[in-house]
Amino acid sequence: MDKEFDVLKEVAKKLAGDTVVSKYVRCGHVACALLTSNGNVYTGVSINAKCGIGFCAEHSAIADMLKAGESKISKIVSSSESSVVVSCGRCLEFIRQLDEDNVNTKILLSTGETKTVGELLPVRWNIDEL
Ligand SMILES: [Zn+2]
Repeated sequence: MDKEFDVLKEVAKKLAGDTVVSKYVRCGHVACALLTSNGNVYTGVSINAKCGIGFCAEHSAIADMLKAGESKISKIVSSSESSVVVSCGRCLEFIRQLDEDNVNTKILLSTGETKTVGELLPVRWNIDEL
């Protein structure tokens, strides 16, 4: 694992921590840190709400990035307090839709290996054919 992944993993792990917000909402079970192609780091936490209306940590980190006008993600790490969490299929599709270059975004796996978004999601949703 390279130094940038070490830093992203540490940032995400420190940010993670399950927090009760209300009777219906918890946050921070998973946190995410991403590095853009411009070299900036953005972070986010997951939000778990009743009726499945919450969202993944990747979504809030991406919203943080979009506020700065960036969309190209170089590397991304999601983690609970104890271990790296691999992005779900919805997040992989979301990352790819943000920018065509994000097919090469590198994701840290719980094994310490890295894979690209394109390797983890080789077949995309065929939105252009609808
Ligand atoms: Zn997700």
